[in-house]
Amino acid sequence: VTSRPHAPQSVALAVDVGGTTIKAELVDRAGAVVAAEQRPTPQGHQALETVAEVGRTLLAQRSDAPVVGAGVVVPGLVNREAGIATYSANIGWRDLELVRSLGAEWRLPVRIANDVAAGGVAEHRLGAGVGTQDLAFVALGTGIAASIVSGGHLVTGHRGETAEIGHLGVRPGVRCACGRDGCLEAVASAAAIARRYTGLSGNDVIGARDVAERLNADAVARQVWQDAVEALADALAILSLVVNPARVVIGGGLSRAGEALLAPLRVALRQRATIVHPAEVTASVLGDRGGVIGAALLARDGWAPES
Ligand SMILES: [Zn+2]
Repeated sequence: VTSRPHAPQSVALAVDVGGTTIKAELVDRAGAVVAAEQRPTPQGHQALETVAEVGRTLLAQRSDAPVVGAGVVVPGLVNREAGIATYSANIGWRDLELVRSLGAEWRLPVRIANDVAAGGVAEHRLGAGVGTQDLAFVALGTGIAASIVSGGHLVTGHRGETAEIGHLGVRPGVRCACGRDGCLEAVASAAAIARRYTGLSGNDVIGARDVAERLNADAVARQVWQDAVEALADALAILSLVVNPARVVIGGGLSRAGEALLAPLRVALRQRATIVHPAEVTASVLGDRGGVIGAALLARDGWAPES
């Protein structure tokens, strides 16, 4: 089969709705960006109108390339089958009918999914997960969540609410924002690291990055950092016992700390690997583009596993 020499390549509309920024791209089959736009994320249901607008703006720039469909990835809980963004604490929406609204607006088939799932699928197919069929992608940011690819399939669970490892109870005595006691997120998220450092040292810091920068010179920073690493290793050890990933890919804002995070995490994980083989721990390759790349893959094939 030969294609016409100048036939326009098809594109997918990919949108990653983050807590602060909406990233939208037209992406060709090879994953190259044809056009891109960003908007600040409005709070609550107003975010829907901004997603619709940024999609309209991009579709107007597509020249004659056919658009195969749209993938939209969002934080929080998602009912993929019903096409509804069920809940996001960050953005503050509930039961938003994204697929129906955006499909009517853009006149395209639209699929939606959770953003951490998108990051995991993108790393599996095109990033740090290439070469394995069993990986866990862990997004370490303001909160902590994960996605699991097992035997090449994204684990979706009963209602799509899988791998919420930020709320594994690993540190009894520490209160979590979710109302439970001892959650990983209350010790090891970027927000928790900054908050705990300020509480123990009396020094105000803006974020976990400031704590990471003090690791060489500040014993309190080292302690808070190591506490976070140990708690994370406890959670990943549970994950290893349950699904036994070959590789754990660390993404999210905290992954920018690089080896300052990964090296002690590998040590802590090996110390806990008494029964099963420890996972290889590696940094995300796609960084903060993982979400939008996952959205483009979602638009193209609905994340059907390659056969
Ligand atoms: Zn919690």
